[in-house]
Amino acid sequence: MQSVTPEQTLAEPAMQELLNMLGINVEYTRAEGDTLRYVGPDGTPETVVDYAGGYGALVLGHNHPALVDTAVTFLSERRPVLAQASRQPAVDQIAARLNDIVGREFGTDERYFAIFSNSGAESIEVALKHAEFDRVLRVRSLLDEVEAHIAEVAAQAQTVAPPPGSGADLSTVLSGLRRDNAEAAARPPVFVALAGSFHGKLVGSVQLTHNPSYRTPFAGLAPAARFVSLDDLDAFDRIAEETRTVLRDVRVVDGVAVVVERPIPVVAAFVMEVIQGEGGIRVVTPAQADRIRQGCAALDCPIVVDEIQSGLGRTGAFFASSQIGFAADYLTLAKGLGGGITKTAVTLVAQRRYRRDFALVHSSTFARDGLSTAVTARVLELLEAENGAAYLRAKEKGEKLAEIFHDLRRRFPGVVREVRGRGLMLGLEFDDQSGSAAPAIAGASANGMLGYVISGYLLRVHRIRTFPTASAANTLRFEPSLNLADADIERLRVALEALCVALRDQDEQALMGG
Ligand code: PMP
Repeated sequence: MQSVTPEQTLAEPAMQELLNMLGINVEYTRAEGDTLRYVGPDGTPETVVDYAGGYGALVLGHNHPALVDTAVTFLSERRPVLAQASRQPAVDQIAARLNDIVGREFGTDERYFAIFSNSGAESIEVALKHAEFDRVLRVRSLLDEVEAHIAEVAAQAQTVAPPPGSGADLSTVLSGLRRDNAEAAARPPVFVALAGSFHGKLVGSVQLTHNPSYRTPFAGLAPAARFVSLDDLDAFDRIAEETRTVLRDVRVVDGVAVVVERPIPVVAAFVMEVIQGEGGIRVVTPAQADRIRQGCAALDCPIVVDEIQSGLGRTGAFFASSQIGFAADYLTLAKGLGGGITKTAVTLVAQRRYRRDFALVHSSTFARDGLSTAVTARVLELLEAENGAAYLRAKEKGEKLAEIFHDLRRRFPGVVREVRGRGLMLGLEFDDQSGSAAPAIAGASANGMLGYVISGYLLRVHRIRTFPTASAANTLRFEPSLNLADADIERLRVALEALCVALRDQDEQALMGG
């Protein structure tokens, strides 16, 4: 048998090769707060400040002591991790607590029902499935109503005249209606998402993730989403018009059958982030949110707000959408919900949309497991303690970082293009350098690798860890914990200053050498 050497990997080798090429293939051996530690090749201990923050999951930092304590206690007491189909009051308490937060932040009395799952993409898939379940049931109930009317008219066939101009007898007209209605009711759903969105990479959710390289190879696996740009939200009305589908109902007026159109829902949901994370930290404005709300209201189409990255307090409120008064029908949370220790996700569904029977057709072995539930309960306690001090801290730390970024943008035109985001969900976009006189810089930029080269430089030279957002490669993300230390902010300032100087001076030796 052929053995595999430790240097080889059978676990997604292409990713290892990329990390090697960028010089960032480091094995971290300890993690606390915003700090990761590793031992260099010569045995020197190194400390890295982590601004990638588990891609946004580490709102409370790595291995928060209270969360570690919760997990250790839970396990040492031999509490059940997996006891599916039993009474789980701790899960109900989390749902209740999330409802308190929704009520406070959105100023609503409406209840939101909670469906638990294991990852961000899964919580989106749950939202898609639930929205489709709800749509199918709405279509079915309309179809039943229409069918009852058709049957009533059929029963009076002797005394009712066919619709004028139909050119057929009544029973032929009615069977035509039945056939058309069955076809209309069987029409597949349409999901609408925003250009630039990222909603995960599973079979359904990847079709809502705009980046074509993630999405298009798998287009055959699930219905394609329709994308609308934030700059042209009128496109949503055009989609509504194009996909308009009706059932043909019938009623009798003065002894004559009259056919009436009854529109059915085809657009199953509008799915969006209010701050696009992987799309380059792009913030939806209140006016854009209003426009989406109007379009959806006209269609009675539910809105799914994906708070997987923006939620859990990092923008200065638990829900970023609450900061623009945008109360969705569905809210999805994941990442930070597990406190950086466990994997939990939840899909919250407003009572007006919730279908109780969904619980009987959807489940997952690991959803609502005891360990994750205990950790999530503690995460919510920590975030909600002291009247929301955590949210204020995220806002203040974010302002400090944003101030540094704006200062760099003013001082380094042609290097720093834009600063975007809110609280501790910030993006720093660099200008394209494909016209650079330095060939290596120009080449990296032309190949869409500038952001990765910059991340490599920040890690190697300054021990700062961050990455470009997945679909906007010139934008670096900054999503540290809300306990970020001032010294770590200062380390970032010094590093970014040196980076901007190297880019301004086209110093490829400083940037890529060594
Ligand atoms: N939605 C958003 C907004 C995300 O940022 C992500 C992850 N980057 C996901 C969904 C998918 O989450 P997961 O990786 O846990 O499947």
